[in-house]
Amino acid sequence: MYVYGPVPSRRLGRSLGVSPIPLKTCSYNCIYCQLGQKGRVQVRRESFYPKEEILSDIGKIVNSPNIDYITFVGDGEPTLCKDLGWLIGQCKEKWHKPVAIITNSSLLSMEDVRHDLKNSDVVLPSLDAGNEEVYRTINRPHGSIGFEEMLQGLVDFRKEYSGKIWLEVMLVKDVNDSDKSLMEINDAIKQVKPDRIYISVPIRPPAKPGVRPPEPGRIIRAHEIFGTILDLTDYESGEFGFDNYPDARTAIIEICSRHPLREDQARDIETRFSESGNIDSLLSDGSLVRVEYQNMAYILPNNFIGIPSQNI
Ligand code: SF4
Repeated sequence: MYVYGPVPSRRLGRSLGVSPIPLKTCSYNCIYCQLGQKGRVQVRRESFYPKEEILSDIGKIVNSPNIDYITFVGDGEPTLCKDLGWLIGQCKEKWHKPVAIITNSSLLSMEDVRHDLKNSDVVLPSLDAGNEEVYRTINRPHGSIGFEEMLQGLVDFRKEYSGKIWLEVMLVKDVNDSDKSLMEINDAIKQVKPDRIYISVPIRPPAKPGVRPPEPGRIIRAHEIFGTILDLTDYESGEFGFDNYPDARTAIIEICSRHPLREDQARDIETRFSESGNIDSLLSDGSLVRVEYQNMAYILPNNFIGIPSQNI
């Protein structure tokens, strides 16, 4: 299944998520990634799945009420999908819904990627570093991608793209939250000239042990240095859409295979289906595991943990 939700999104309201790529297929291997440690790091664009199948999956849910955006987000980096431009065009033509793309920015240096995104309404790129060293530490990109090349891709995209750019900066304690790092990131932001800047911090269990959100004082300092910021440092709220799921068990497994799910949200899902016992039985048979992060309990699939990355 390529489509999930609609899910509550802090930036996009009720967002119908579309993942046109296999789980954790990405050009980065970020230390804060919520998709676990296993994965494939690549820069080669591919048609991972038949594009018509993806479109047909979107078509089954897209007319659910209150969908604010069709969001290509991927369980990794969605611009790795070679068919992204076609999919965006088809969504706009068939359903006239706003289309958003969440990207890590790494492939915007490729002309075909920038071209593919041109019909979308909003692009939400990441920019977590202001120099090569921090970039390598926090994003751990594929060996062929350099910081300057990535930044130039973002700058070129800004010049060519007529939609909105909502830039996101993920701040990690002791990695990119010093004054020096924040000022270098701000220099890079000024070159990109986004329509909005969001600051974000790790709120779900990260790929690398020890990754923590900055102290509140550092977040305030980031506000001062970056100027106006809409803050993503809080938890998302709102209801998941369940029209696509036959029962609570399927919904919980499907949603938490996309990202760690707060235990309270998982228990809400059971209540919505008037069911009980699913979570406890999935935890006791080892299909799901419970992980504590920042005093919050999350559940995630067992296979999210502990397999090293590959490079392609
Ligand atoms: S956080 Fe996003 S960009 Fe970073 S490795 Fe995970 S999927 Fe890729």
